[in-house]
Amino acid sequence: MSSEAKTNLLGLSLPKMQAFFAELGEKPFRATQTLKWIHQRGVVDIDEMTDISKVLREKMKAVAEIRPPLITQELRSSDGSCKWIVQVASGSSVEMVFIPEAGRGTLCVSSQAGCSLDCSFCATGKQGFNSNLSAAEIIGQLWWANKKLAGFGVKPAAEWNEEGRAPQNSRPVSNIVMMGMGEPLLNFDNVMDALSLMMEDQAYGLSKRRVTISTSGVVPALDRLKDYTDASLAISLHAPNDELRNVLVPINRKYPIQELLRSAADYMSTLGERRVPVIEYTLIAGVNDHRQHARELAQLLKNFPCKINLIPFNPFAQSDYRRPSASSVSNFRQILQEAGYTVTVRTTRADDIGAACGQLVGEIGDNTRRSERYAEARRIRVITEQGSGVTPVA
Ligand code: SAH
Ligand code: SF4
Repeated sequence: MSSEAKTNLLGLSLPKMQAFFAELGEKPFRATQTLKWIHQRGVVDIDEMTDISKVLREKMKAVAEIRPPLITQELRSSDGSCKWIVQVASGSSVEMVFIPEAGRGTLCVSSQAGCSLDCSFCATGKQGFNSNLSAAEIIGQLWWANKKLAGFGVKPAAEWNEEGRAPQNSRPVSNIVMMGMGEPLLNFDNVMDALSLMMEDQAYGLSKRRVTISTSGVVPALDRLKDYTDASLAISLHAPNDELRNVLVPINRKYPIQELLRSAADYMSTLGERRVPVIEYTLIAGVNDHRQHARELAQLLKNFPCKINLIPFNPFAQSDYRRPSASSVSNFRQILQEAGYTVTVRTTRADDIGAACGQLVGEIGDNTRRSERYAEARRIRVITEQGSGVTPVA
């Protein structure tokens, strides 16, 4: 059987792994054994699964394998963040980014190569859509990140055990945000399988509060989400009214703000436990960052429990948009805070390796500024590899 025709065990959720073993005439507990080998111990060789008999391993090897995506480049920022370029089956490459912070390590995961939604401020959107990632290519990013970071000596994040997880299962990545390249709700089934592995105790065991799906508003898919997951939700809003949002986030013309907020509220109501979504708002100078926009946003969300995350625009070469000044970000924040909202401002991280929000493109291409950044990041990597090592996560 050729390699491509074999089942890739890396992307199988627990129910799919159980179905795989049922096909082989085996008991369901083989599925949990195999998940642990792949996701907790990081094996790629079925023969290393020593608590599975040789006979069964041979049966498995005849039809299946563990095929992680290929990492083609690794960039390490001076702020401790890391970015990896991952080649996927379609021949495209996508990017994933690890951001260490006190007490946690967040991995920003891609779901598609490119994106069809064409938001006017997003480098991924400018590329257009290339392909959906398979479940193995999505979960493979987490699989790789933990392996690579452990190899760098990055310690498991301190808060990891807050829910009583066994210490031997702790790994450097404690939080996931589906905020890399692509619109996760447009690759629904594969993203759902990957999310279930992230939260599955036999795999990564991440808490639902630490796995966030971010969407620009694919309402029909958001309406179905509650039947598949209880992950946390981020809504990429970016504008306080339909007129402006139609320009910045074109999918708004199909699913306007009120429909999106209704759908998000429905999803949140199924989660209970006082969980609220995060409203993402990229601040672009002179476009959506005026005081009046902040007041309008405060009014729009007044019956919608949420937190607000402001993201100062990260520039990229194909865009004429500019980042607002620190004082206009702070004014915007203050208006929302005075209206009673919890507001955070996302600190720009990993800008030196082209890994800040919205800068991910997966292809170096003819973008000169990015080439310059890569050259700088390569220099940083050489320095770190020569001895100083990566700054461990606190
Ligand atoms: N497609 C999904 C997830 C990927 S985008 C979504 O849109 O939510 C992840 C986040 O980065 C989104 O909130 C997006 O609006 C933001 N973003 C995109 N381009 C950006 C840029 N140039 N500067 C800052 N944030 C950006
Ligand atoms: Fe796609 Fe999200 Fe970028 Fe919009 S912001 S183009 S939905 S990746």
